[in-house]
Amino acid sequence: MKQSPLTPVAPGAWLGMLGGGQLGRMWVHAAQSLGYRCMVLDPDPDSPAGRVAEQHLAADYLDVQALRTLAQTCAAVSTEFENVPAQALAQLAESTRVTPHADAVAIAQDRAKEKAHFQACGVPVAPHRIIESPEQLAEVPDHLLPGILKTTRLGYDGKGQARVKTREELNAAWQRLQDSAGSVLVPCVLEQQLPLKGECSVVLARGFDGSHTHLPVQLNLHRQGILALTEVAPGLLEPALEHELVQAALAIALKLNYVGVLCVEFFIIPRPKGGATWVVNEIAPRPHNSGHHSMDACDLSQFELQARCMAQLPLREVCLHSATAMINLLGDVWYHDGQAHEPNWSAVLAVPGTHLHLYGKAEARVGRKMGHLNLTGRDLAQVRMARDQVARILGIAPFIDSPT
Ligand code: ATP
Ligand code: MG
Repeated sequence: MKQSPLTPVAPGAWLGMLGGGQLGRMWVHAAQSLGYRCMVLDPDPDSPAGRVAEQHLAADYLDVQALRTLAQTCAAVSTEFENVPAQALAQLAESTRVTPHADAVAIAQDRAKEKAHFQACGVPVAPHRIIESPEQLAEVPDHLLPGILKTTRLGYDGKGQARVKTREELNAAWQRLQDSAGSVLVPCVLEQQLPLKGECSVVLARGFDGSHTHLPVQLNLHRQGILALTEVAPGLLEPALEHELVQAALAIALKLNYVGVLCVEFFIIPRPKGGATWVVNEIAPRPHNSGHHSMDACDLSQFELQARCMAQLPLREVCLHSATAMINLLGDVWYHDGQAHEPNWSAVLAVPGTHLHLYGKAEARVGRKMGHLNLTGRDLAQVRMARDQVARILGIAPFIDSPT
C-alpha cells in the first residue's frame, strides 16, 4: 500500500537506489548506518554500490521486473545519477515514494530547460543562446565568443563541451557534436566564456513537508572540466556572498517543489568596477562531488541527508566542525612515468587529518574518479598544509590559492 509522503519510514525497512556508482555506495553506507536495508539497481554486476548493498538487482534501468521488485520492496527510492530514464522514475512512482520527482530530474537533464528554470526564478545565468538548427548557429551574436559550446543533454565532467574562440571554431565544434549522433540534430547551448574568479556550490536537502537544510557553501577548483579540489572553512568566503548563494539555491529548489538532495553550482565573476558577482551554472538532482567533505567535516553528511529525505526524518541544521579540503583521486594518480602502481596510501594516511575514501573500482583509468581524500583541521592554514603534503606524495599538480 502507498504510504503518505509524510509518514516516516522506520529503520529496518528497505530503501532503494537507481544507480550503483560511488554516490550510491556512499549513500548505502549512510543509510545502513541508520539501520535501513538497501537495494540497488544497476546493470553492472560489479558496481561500487551494488557490492555493498544488501541486495543488488543487476538489470537494465528499464527492466520492468527489476523496477517492480524495487518498488514493491522499498519504502522509498532515489537516484544517484541524473541521466536516469524518465520512464523508470514514472514506473516506480506508481507504487513507491520517489525522490526527486521526475519533473525535477527532467529539468536537470537538459541545460536549456535548466536555464529557463533559473531565469523563471529570477536567478542570473551566463549570457547564452540555445542552438537547435544550422540557422540558429548562423545567428549567434558576436558577444558570446569566446564561448563554450555544450550539448544540452548527457554531458558530465566537461564531456560534450568545446571551447571556441571564433565563428569557424564554433561551426566546426557544432559539426563535431552533431557527427557523434548520426542523423538526429543535437541541441546545444553556447555560453559566453566567463572570466571565473572562482566556483562555488551549495548542497541542500528539502523534505516532503517543505523543511530544508544545507551544507556550508563550497569553494571548488576544476581542472580540465573535472572537480579537483573543494575547500570549506569559516572566513574563506564573504558572508554576504554565501548568503546570496544559499538564497538562490533555495529559490531554485522551492520553485521546482524539490524533494531530496540538490546541488546548485555557481560561477563567481569579477565586477567591472571591482568586487565580485555570480551567476548560476547548473544543478545536480542528487548528492554532489563537492559535498563529499561533509562525510568527515560536518555532523551530517550529504548522504545521510539523502537517506533522511527519503525516510522523512528531520532535516536539522548542519554544523561544519572542522575546516576541510576534499581532493579528488582520479585514475591519473595510479600512473607515473607510464607505469601503473598503487599510490602510497601509508604515506598519505600518516598526514594528520586525512580520511581516505576509495570506491572499490577495479581498474584505474586516467580521468576516472577512483576515490577522494577528505582533509580536516582546526583552520584553513592547517588543512592547506596537509593538502600540499598529500598532493606532493600523490604527484598531483600543486594547488595555487587565489582569494575569492
Ligand atoms: P559536471 O557535471 O562534472 O559538474 P559538466 O560536464 O556538467 O560538469 P559544466 O559544469 O557546465 O560541465 O562545466 C565544467 C566546468 O567548465 C565548470 O565547472 C567550469 O570550470 C568550466 N566552465 C563551464 N562553463 C563555463 C563558462 N561559461 N565560463 C567559464 N568556464 C566555464
Ligand atoms: Mg558542472
